[in-house]
Amino acid sequence: MSDTAFQCFLVSKNNTGKFGTTVVSRNIADLPKGDVLIQVAYSSLNYKDALAATGHPGVARSLPHVPGIDVVGTVSWSASSDWQVGDNVLVTGYGLGSNQWGGWSGLVRVPSEWVVRLPEGLSALESMTLGTAGFTAAQCIQSLQHHGITPELGKVVVTGASGGVGSLAVTILAQLGYEVVAVSGKSSAHDLLMRLGSVEILDRDAVIKRADKPLLPVNWSGAIDTVGGITLTTLLRQTAHRGCVAACGLVSGSELSMTVYPFLLRGVTLDGIDSAACPMPSRIAIWEKLAGAWKPENLELLRTMVQFDELNAYVQRMLNGQVTGRIVVTVAPIDD
Ligand code: NDP
Repeated sequence: MSDTAFQCFLVSKNNTGKFGTTVVSRNIADLPKGDVLIQVAYSSLNYKDALAATGHPGVARSLPHVPGIDVVGTVSWSASSDWQVGDNVLVTGYGLGSNQWGGWSGLVRVPSEWVVRLPEGLSALESMTLGTAGFTAAQCIQSLQHHGITPELGKVVVTGASGGVGSLAVTILAQLGYEVVAVSGKSSAHDLLMRLGSVEILDRDAVIKRADKPLLPVNWSGAIDTVGGITLTTLLRQTAHRGCVAACGLVSGSELSMTVYPFLLRGVTLDGIDSAACPMPSRIAIWEKLAGAWKPENLELLRTMVQFDELNAYVQRMLNGQVTGRIVVTVAPIDD
């Protein structure tokens, strides 16, 4: 079995220090240690994968590296009593695709503790249309709910709304009855964002308030921010008394420069979302929700399917902020 060959997307550095990517053939013996071997059906492209695919040292901890923080497929070997050959499973986060060989590969070998059973009600393709993006959007929404943000309290804003996390957050929030304001830099995505259920669309630049006021007029009961930087500080200063901002992203910046007044005078909560490290019981509960009451009705509207040899072009588009919805990587489809 150790000589079984499969294809993977490899990021490496040549002897002049230049990054490059190739689709190469590898054997099982090349994979990292683990007690579950998964034949990959689909993976996906997330912002973190785009960083890994261009050799970002904060994500691709060592080179050569195989990106892909999401994977769905079938167990083809297991040394764990929890998993049997033929089980349909998914893995998102943990070290997959960052400090360990990721899902842009025909096979992955992982610790059994990372593995989640593909929930009833979700096909393999649907699970990767959601992927880490959908899982993160669901965690953000759960965070708003835990902080008492109900639809009756008024508008909820989502930034980076046409991206993976953003578009799924808009979709699920709208399905749950929230009045969703989508913030986007893409006029080309306005029709889609309305179809997903937004009540209003604001231009990305128009939302940012640089004026150095510690508090701004209240606009939102809650917010989901995929962007960071000045956008996040603006939202925190505009959020209502006892409101909540779930922050998960940094596409526009990782700095947070503001006063503590929104926290002290309005009791605003800034809730951080860490999908990769989400504990297993919460992880399973979120996937069950995504397969059930929170399952987006229109996943196919958000999906673009790509092969390994198309990934470099989509990586560049993602780093330029040009991707709309979700990019699913076809490896060896199983059920759809
Ligand atoms: P995408 O590339 O799919 O979406 C990002 C969106 O942000 C873009 O489509 C664009 O939407 C907007 N955008 C792009 N560049 C800028 C910019 N310079 N300023 C403001 N907005 C911009 O990425 P993902 O949805 O996969 O990830 C979004 C963020 O969330 C990333 O930072 C990612 O690392 C983070 N993330 C964090 C997780 C966690 O657990 N904390 C898990 C998953 C993702 P538009 O044109 O509509 O404005």
